[in-house]
Amino acid sequence: MKKKIIAYNRVEKPVLEKLEQQYDVHFFKDVDTKKDPEFLKQLHDTEGIIGLELPVDGQLLEHAPNLKIVSNVSVGYNNLDVDGLTERNIMATNTPGVLTDTVADTVFGLLISAARRIPELDRYVKNGKWKVEAIEPEYFGTDVHHKKLGIIGMGRIGQAIAKRAHFGFDMEILYHSRSRKPVVEETFNAEYLGLDELLKVSDYICLITPLTPETTGLIGKQEFQLMKNSAIFINGSRGKTVVEHELIAALQNGEIAAAGLDVYEQEPVQADNPLLKLDNVVTTPHIGSSTHETELKMSELAATNLEAGLSGKKPPNLINPAVWEKK
Ligand code: NAP
Repeated sequence: MKKKIIAYNRVEKPVLEKLEQQYDVHFFKDVDTKKDPEFLKQLHDTEGIIGLELPVDGQLLEHAPNLKIVSNVSVGYNNLDVDGLTERNIMATNTPGVLTDTVADTVFGLLISAARRIPELDRYVKNGKWKVEAIEPEYFGTDVHHKKLGIIGMGRIGQAIAKRAHFGFDMEILYHSRSRKPVVEETFNAEYLGLDELLKVSDYICLITPLTPETTGLIGKQEFQLMKNSAIFINGSRGKTVVEHELIAALQNGEIAAAGLDVYEQEPVQADNPLLKLDNVVTTPHIGSSTHETELKMSELAATNLEAGLSGKKPPNLINPAVWEKK
């Protein structure tokens, strides 16, 4: 009999079809995982879960006595109660690396868009406001090249952003992480700073940490006050790393100049969110890694992790190795 697995929200079609040859696959999208009777029924004898942003907490695990592995189709795994999974000897995996360059491209795209006001000026042209050949200075943007870029979270993606900024745009790289990175400092001529100092001196600030208890609300009122009034803030991490109402206030009060956002406190973002009314905010709908090529690679890597876990092998991207060591 085929092992039962649940695929959730996003697994690319060719990967799903391959999994279906091997497993009894039940696909769910955006269901209420606390209440949906069909989901809870299938969960009971499911051995593996593969998917995007499925909230896996103690309550869900109560309904999954046969679960052996949760394979996230993402590098971030703030949706998983990793301790709860480890206690129950359930493996958890993610998809690091394959999305690094794509997310760095997205972050850099937001940065350039916010600096040069590309979406705003796109609307200006399309709405027929371009009446005189030389547009007024009020529509000018600000330079990216040769400016100071502060990166918070100098991991895989942070370094890929630094690479673009240093080699492509002659930017001065400042960074803050839990630990210093001598190779990064050498390669990108980067300077390590405490968070407050980085916020004070950077022209652009890119936030790209994981969401953890330590990074929840990392950037709030005080942090926006430290930033230059001309600063442009980019969030590619997770919405809850920022206190969103303080970001809105900072943008409205002119404490910072602009923001580029891929992630939000609540997703999908609500239609009445004041961020959506601000011209100095560039938004994308959490598409950091969402290109055809990269989503496929992420699904493939997640499937590799799942298959390994379900066939008694160590998954290549195990988040909680303690489960494996206990075997
Ligand atoms: P990574 O290689 O693990 O890098 C994370 C970096 O964050 C590390 O440098 C780490 O510092 C730093 N960090 C962790 N906690 C910190 C703290 N409290 N203060 C300062 N720095 C801290 O991960 P990655 O592959 O670059 O991915 C980073 C995150 O990007 C993911 O977890 C996810 O949330 C987000 N992401 C978003 C999208 C999107 O679609 N928008 C897509 C992919 C990823 P140390 O190196 O010193 O430990």
